[in-house]
Amino acid sequence: MVPALADVSTMLAMVILSSIVMAGGMATVGWGHRDDGVRWWALGLLLNAVAHLLFALRGRVPDVLSVVVGNTLLVGVYLAMLSAVLQFQGRGPLRPSVLGLPLLMAASMALLADNYSARVVVAGLLLCGLNLWLLTHLLLRWRISGGRGAWLVAGALVFQTLVLTLRVALVGVAPLTGMNLMQPSAVQTLTFMTTFAVGLLASMGFVFMARDRADEGNRRMAAVDALTGVANRRAAIAALDRDVARAIRTREPISVMMVDIDHFKQVNDRYGHPAGDRALCSVVDVLRERLRSQDLVGRYGGEEFLVVLPDTPLKGAYQLALELCEAVEAHGFIHDGQEIPLTVSIGVFGGILLPGDHWDMLIYAADRALYDAKERGRNRVEVNEGLRRPSSAPAVQTGPETQPTLF
Ligand code: GH3
Ligand code: MG
Ligand code: MG
Repeated sequence: MVPALADVSTMLAMVILSSIVMAGGMATVGWGHRDDGVRWWALGLLLNAVAHLLFALRGRVPDVLSVVVGNTLLVGVYLAMLSAVLQFQGRGPLRPSVLGLPLLMAASMALLADNYSARVVVAGLLLCGLNLWLLTHLLLRWRISGGRGAWLVAGALVFQTLVLTLRVALVGVAPLTGMNLMQPSAVQTLTFMTTFAVGLLASMGFVFMARDRADEGNRRMAAVDALTGVANRRAAIAALDRDVARAIRTREPISVMMVDIDHFKQVNDRYGHPAGDRALCSVVDVLRERLRSQDLVGRYGGEEFLVVLPDTPLKGAYQLALELCEAVEAHGFIHDGQEIPLTVSIGVFGGILLPGDHWDMLIYAADRALYDAKERGRNRVEVNEGLRRPSSAPAVQTGPETQPTLF
């Protein structure tokens, strides 16, 4: 008839089969990924399948297996899933003392061997506690594990906790005298249907968590220069494009710098490419140290960096460029205990933009200034305050608030 009396064996078979299939799928997905916790989760699902298989064999195998080992394995399911969450969050493994929990479950089940209702209550309370423990770990580090996937896992755990609590309350109020696990009832239907649904939902959520993490890692890698750790050319241009649009909207000044290391080829030729790589990183360190949090430095080409300075007039950018030049020269670069002199030339563009201005105009202007700096002897700063606009646009907008900020 109605689902209230769904066949317990069938529901157990659904839980077993779905757990095995998901464990296999997750083990395959988690193969080769050591740190996302998916393999721990797969182990949890496998334990879930074995536990429910032992439940399904109630009466056909000794009770010590079906009752004691079965329920103890359920604690193992939570410990494996907790390990998965901890590993996902980059935290250490569980302490050995948690093994007290399966022992507690085993002892309780052995002691209550003759009292089904008491077993339902005790096991239910213990599993409720484990659910909340897992949920707490997820929520406490929401910054690391949060996202759509984690919402699914958390929602599944909350639902499971509610159903377990209801089951404990129902059995507490009306003990199941003379009943056993395999007898169909509304409570059993609710319990095993929930186990089935929650297992699917939480596992899907955990896979999404791992996938979101991998996506995030790929996004970050695609935006960062592998050698220096600053934004790569694509990400720097994207940031400049955004800042240009904002500067046009707000009429705030914006500046950009092109920073190029002087005679860098000689550094490579004399001291080798690896030393050249470290020299590049040391220049980046100097630049980063002196920039504000809203500024951006990106690697535009080999030994050429683009610095974007939002809300900064040409005068401020020029001052900063002078400081950067001096700082790089003062910092030098130590190789094999020997100080290697390093200097940079900087071309700066700064001003207020007009609708229709484009990021590549700013780069072109700063590049022209850089060219002048190289021509005029290097280790110096040159500026360019005019953009090469299409002839239809006025070269410089008139009016006090749109005047480029000169110095
Ligand atoms: P200038 O003062 O005119 O800029 O001279 P330069 O030698 O710095 O300029 P040039 O363009 O002739 O040489 C740039 C050098 O930068 C050549 C290239 O080998 C080196 N370079 C580019 N990318 C890297 C890198 O990732 N690592 C190392 N070590 N060298 C790099
Ligand atoms: Mg150079
Ligand atoms: Mg260059």
